[in-house]
Amino acid sequence: MPLHLEVITPERSVYEDDVDMVIAPGSEGYLGILPHHAPLFTTLGPGEFRVKKGGVEEVLAVFGGFMDVRANRVVVLTDAAEHIEDIDASRAQEARDRAQQLLAAGPVSAADEARARAALQRALVRLRIAEGRRRRR
Ligand code: ATP
Repeated sequence: MPLHLEVITPERSVYEDDVDMVIAPGSEGYLGILPHHAPLFTTLGPGEFRVKKGGVEEVLAVFGGFMDVRANRVVVLTDAAEHIEDIDASRAQEARDRAQQLLAAGPVSAADEARARAALQRALVRLRIAEGRRRRR
């Protein structure tokens, strides 16, 4: 009995398939989910979301959100997600620099500040993952 996994962002469905196992970055630590897992609802931290299927592992970067597990179905709702191989480090550097400049430039509205802080956090997570990926090669 496989697990059916869906990873959804406000923009698109990033992943949908039957898989053997997932390892998710729960906000309080990594959680391994196998078929027949007990029902679970948790928030996710930013980090690496590992998907195992047929002896192959794929790794997605996710940026917070929620994971709902029940009846062999795993649904992940997250602000953004991408395969770690698709992370463009220079784009993340530019996003980081833009957010830092905006935050350093002085008073902005609370909403703009929150957006810039969230973008900065996404960029830093992408850069950390891109760096780890480079070292593993
Ligand atoms: P940017 O300012 O570079 O767009 P962002 O943090 O605002 O970065 P998001 O809103 O998190 O971007 O994501 C928008 C889309 O672009 C998503 O589909 C996300 O997966 C993708 N994406 C964003 N940054 C990168 C990156 N550095 N490498 C690969 N994909 C990215």
